[in-house]
Amino acid sequence: MLINIINHPDVTVEIDKDLKKFSTMRLDARGDLITVKSVEGLKTALKTLTENKIQYRALGWGANMLLPVVAERPYIQLDFEFDRSIFDVARTEYILPASISLATLTSHANKFGLKGWEVFTGIPASLGGAIFMNAGTNLGEIGSVVKEVKLITKNGEEKIVIIDKGSFSYRHNHFVDNGDVIYEVKLVHFGQDEAISKKIREYLEMRTRTQPLKEWTCGCIFKNHEDTVRGLSRAGLFIDILGLKGLTINNLQISPKHANFMENRGESTYEDVLQMITVLQKEMKLQFGVSFETEVEY
Ligand SMILES: Cc1cc2nc3c(=O)[nH]c(=O)nc-3n(C[C@H](O)[C@H](O)[C@H](O)COP(=O)(O)OP(=O)(O)OC[C@H]3O[C@@H](n4cnc5c(N)ncnc54)[C@H](O)[C@@H]3O)c2cc1C
Repeated sequence: MLINIINHPDVTVEIDKDLKKFSTMRLDARGDLITVKSVEGLKTALKTLTENKIQYRALGWGANMLLPVVAERPYIQLDFEFDRSIFDVARTEYILPASISLATLTSHANKFGLKGWEVFTGIPASLGGAIFMNAGTNLGEIGSVVKEVKLITKNGEEKIVIIDKGSFSYRHNHFVDNGDVIYEVKLVHFGQDEAISKKIREYLEMRTRTQPLKEWTCGCIFKNHEDTVRGLSRAGLFIDILGLKGLTINNLQISPKHANFMENRGESTYEDVLQMITVLQKEMKLQFGVSFETEVEY
């Protein structure tokens, strides 16, 4: 039994936990949750799970994951101790735990005008989840300010990745192998500039106006699609053109504010979400001939 096999004081195992609050979409979900507070705890947890042939899944803020009604695999969430005085002054490099939130980094960038860090603006995420996804906005991608990433492999060994031009692509990293968990990240910036604070503020205002940031969503449903025939196809624009904004399945609705978001208006289910994704994919393929890949993981 999972609860008995991981023996480390920095690891807590909760069986059959209510995980509704562990994803931003707030679907009903249950599963086993392993919370890890140190790198030694993480090594022990991953090694033990692998030795016992138990597959697991890293979980950040669940802002890009739809959790199933009953999860088959345990989730691993990091909650490392961290000295926040690192943010008292501007530095040239930052060594940060993967569990820190991008919102914390945005407020530090806002305070000290760190160039390059405006890319975090408005993305709800843990640093680890954002790096896994190479999260980004119109202002850029997180990959541009990452210098080094430390991970623990499924065998409990440390892996250090020095980031180069091939490390990231659109919403992808190319260095996290199956079972690896990112635990520490070295970030840099491109100097200080007073204009950054204004840029962050204006971008946040624009996002609040155009995206349903207060609703229960999982961010963009689909990745934008690019090919040599059509160039860039925006899923949100296509859904909008098809008149599907506001489409509702039970309590799940395509956001009236932004067509590439779906809002859980209360008690939506995993099934509702799968049905909505299928309907949208079929309609867009039929009308525009484009197969959109989902951005959200399920
Ligand atoms: C309102 C809203 C707005 C959003 N806007 C944007 C946006 O502008 N741009 C954008 O890119 N995304 C956006 N998103 C999506 C989401 O914020 C990003 O994908 C983000 O990177 C997810 O981070 P997370 O910590 O929640 O990761 P999760 O959703 O928990 O996990 C995502 C993936 O990362 C893996 N993972 C998580 N932590 C680790 C780790 N420590 N080690 C290894 N793997 C890990 C998970 O296993 C999973 O495969 C938005 C989401 C919402 C809800």
